[in-house]
Amino acid sequence: LMPSVISTDVLIVGAGVAGLWLNARLRRQGFSTVLVESASLGGGQSLKSQGIIHGGAKYALHGALSGASEAIADMPRRWREALDGKGELDLSGVRLLSEAHYLWSPGTIAGNLTSFFASKAVRGRVDQVKGEQLPPALQNPKFKGKVYRLAELVVDVPSLIERLAELAGDSLLAGQNVEPLYEGDELVGLRVDGRDIHAQRIVLSAGGGNADLLNALGVSQPQMQRRPLHMVLVKGPTLKPLFAHCLGGGPKPRITVTTHPAADGQCVWYLGGDLAEAEGVVREPDAQIAVARKELEALLPWVDLSQAQWATLRVDRAEPAQSGLVRPDNAFLDSQRRLMVGWPTKLALAPDFADRVLSQLSRDGIHPTPQSPLVDVPRPPMAIPVWDELLP
Ligand code: FAD
Repeated sequence: LMPSVISTDVLIVGAGVAGLWLNARLRRQGFSTVLVESASLGGGQSLKSQGIIHGGAKYALHGALSGASEAIADMPRRWREALDGKGELDLSGVRLLSEAHYLWSPGTIAGNLTSFFASKAVRGRVDQVKGEQLPPALQNPKFKGKVYRLAELVVDVPSLIERLAELAGDSLLAGQNVEPLYEGDELVGLRVDGRDIHAQRIVLSAGGGNADLLNALGVSQPQMQRRPLHMVLVKGPTLKPLFAHCLGGGPKPRITVTTHPAADGQCVWYLGGDLAEAEGVVREPDAQIAVARKELEALLPWVDLSQAQWATLRVDRAEPAQSGLVRPDNAFLDSQRRLMVGWPTKLALAPDFADRVLSQLSRDGIHPTPQSPLVDVPRPPMAIPVWDELLP
């Protein structure tokens, strides 16, 4: 049986946070959409992220304030409104893991925090916390450091992806093989597993998959870069919530810790930051776990890790190519005729990614047109949270 030809306003490829957020915003504005996913919803970088809705504090640590701090500063407010059901999307029901992310200075580290507190990204938005206001894992008589509350949220990404999938309605399509559809030499849509989909606009939001997709479409720009990470996961019955960048004196946090609920009710600490970068990437998993254990024993000597289970996760961040692997500043979108391609560069910047597509549609004079719903098609499954996959 030949699958019927489908027409849609916007055809999106890749259902991570960027594609799903964009899809939900477009549908809310009345556009018809089809969102194609080759594996599972959120199963790329999105469900492997730490879920921090950055407001720029981390970047202000570099000292010199970069553009990133400015662009990202509004994201916590936009996410909070959406989580309250009053924003650009109705994300009420999505689980918030923490009302705040914290900056944790473990001992006496040099005065470069002065410029940090003076910087635009954090001015007036950072409060020192003590005693019972400290994150539960740091509430111990032996704790010595200083802790500051940042105006940043931490979301439970699995529940976010589930909600965005609900908002996708019938627009989701499972499909592996994507080929260009031309009329003359104009790209007019994509053929997905043999099914022709015509679209006014095509958006590639496939994360690390964008490079291959561009290749398949014979498009050479924009170029993509990958930056590898080697994250550590630790699960144990004694772990308490902790959401913090632990400072080590350098420009990057020594460790960034977030806490996630495992299916069995235990807490999982997910460790990134400098630990997971350059040297951490070179280490074999066992060596990486040994370093992480030593760090936790040094920083949190009162935490009993004797029953803890450990795992590591290698994962690449996919972004537009930058000289010298500098972290990109904003969500990135490139537009060439009917084709748009981009990367949010941060989970937190998914709203910025959607803004950029919506402005391009408006510049191009693309309006919603009536379309029939997508019926009787294969649907992509939800991805499994990494902590449940790696530490069952
Ligand atoms: P992805 O989530 O990778 O989604 C792309 C999707 O496209 C995938 O589902 C994939 O299967 C699909 N796909 C690929 N190829 C094809 C194809 N040919 N056809 C169809 N579908 C395809 N950001 C923050 O803001 N806060 C954080 O705390 C944070 N922590 C992070 C921690 C880690 C370890 C990592 C790696 C990243 C972190 N990030 C964080 C960055 C953030 O995760 C990413 O910027 C964001 O998730 C990217 O979303 P995306 O939708 O572009 O990509």
